[in-house]
Amino acid sequence: MELKLYDTYTRTMRDFEPMDPVAVRMYTCGPTVYNYAHIGNLRTYIFEDILRRTLEFNGYAVNHVMNITDVGHLTSDADSGEDKMEKGSARTGKTAWEIAEIYTQAFKEDMQRLNILEPSIWCKATDHIAEQIALIRCIEDNGYTYRTDDGLYFDTSKQPSYGYMARLNLEGLQAGARIEMGDKRNSTDFALWKFSPKEKQRQMEWDSPWGVGFPGWHIECSAMSAKYLGSFFDIHCGGEDHISVHHSNEIAQTEACYGTHLANFWMHGYFLQLDDAKMAKSSGDFLRVQTLIDRGTDPLAYRMFCLSSHYRSKLNFTWDGLDGAATALNRLRAAVYEWGASGGVPDPSFIEHFTAQVNDDLNMPRAMAVVWELVRCDLPAAVRKATILAFDRVLGLRLAEWRPAEEEVPDAVMNLVQQRTLARKEKRWKDADALRIQVTAAGYEIEDKADGVRVRRRNNA
Ligand code: AMP
Ligand code: ZN
Repeated sequence: MELKLYDTYTRTMRDFEPMDPVAVRMYTCGPTVYNYAHIGNLRTYIFEDILRRTLEFNGYAVNHVMNITDVGHLTSDADSGEDKMEKGSARTGKTAWEIAEIYTQAFKEDMQRLNILEPSIWCKATDHIAEQIALIRCIEDNGYTYRTDDGLYFDTSKQPSYGYMARLNLEGLQAGARIEMGDKRNSTDFALWKFSPKEKQRQMEWDSPWGVGFPGWHIECSAMSAKYLGSFFDIHCGGEDHISVHHSNEIAQTEACYGTHLANFWMHGYFLQLDDAKMAKSSGDFLRVQTLIDRGTDPLAYRMFCLSSHYRSKLNFTWDGLDGAATALNRLRAAVYEWGASGGVPDPSFIEHFTAQVNDDLNMPRAMAVVWELVRCDLPAAVRKATILAFDRVLGLRLAEWRPAEEEVPDAVMNLVQQRTLARKEKRWKDADALRIQVTAAGYEIEDKADGVRVRRRNNA
């Protein structure tokens, strides 16, 4: 079945075909690791995860690269202000290197809690300084740069296509923004390399042909994506805020050196809003996955909440909305659990309906409607089970793993388990194996733990 995706670059819905049949090459802009991710950031990563899973559901292998921004992202997108990493260091009393490590690990933990698949390749900006310098040289050799007192800049006026994806009104921008320009020639120009300040020793700095300093924020993505995916690949994603600055600048750099606009499809997730305001990580006070856990909410309820809206529309966060998603998720889990072991094959008609929705530019609200139809239908339980487990490859709700908190195991089964424990103690291995088989046949499974055995109903056979 055709997969249609919305491409921001052409502003059209297009049929997706990978350039290379072996694997889809996809790059997603990763976190700036100066603080925890907020649940708004994570909405974007959930959208990208659904995209990745949908590609895999369609039978494609995906070579997915995500960067870690651990240097060069300044507090203002206009290339002024402090480096976010140095700021995080001042806030915590730890080195910039330490906080990069701490918040990278925290981000990976959040991903796991939300069942977001890990990329095939993680790449850190600070591990790719040489690649960034080489790319800047290429851009310089092609005549797109100029120097100021504080860095080497990209001259956007030299590139007629600059800002095409964002449909930027360059004259309007030029007239409007004089304040933060410093020595820049055009308001849209941006730093490729910043010099270390003379008055202050930076924690992260490197030698370069232009002087000691650090890379601008945008160059890492152009350099690392070219290294791992080539200078023109299938899909590039990020949040909607990236369209007008970060991604416009990535495209400018790549076009200046390689002559391509980086990716065949540009896809952007829209913002999660809190009280209709943007959710800013820099504000210091923000909602994160741990905030949800602390109030007793399962992180996957947040994933379910995100599935209730299309990635190309803004989503207003409310506690009621989240609690509603938690209730719905529990209802779904209980239904799926009740269906028992799979045993069957997925129902082709339901698979077709579900695929039609996810392949329609990831229409998850409509895909969820198919899920609820499946819950209500009268197909045999084993078939429904097999079907929902196929859906869950895209949904990522860990439906196969869920068990009710307290589960009554029938006495007869417990009796078999106890006999098995005794047999094991007495090293009667054959008896123990035979008893385990009886327990399995009764629909339960035994897990041997360091502190004893756990018995539970088999959910996913
Ligand atoms: P950052 O760590 O600031 O570089 O942002 C990480 C990702 O989160 C980027 O793709 C941003 O576009 C995205 N993002 C930032 N704020 C929000 C929000 N409120 N809702 C959804 N995505 C966001
Ligand atoms: Zn990027």
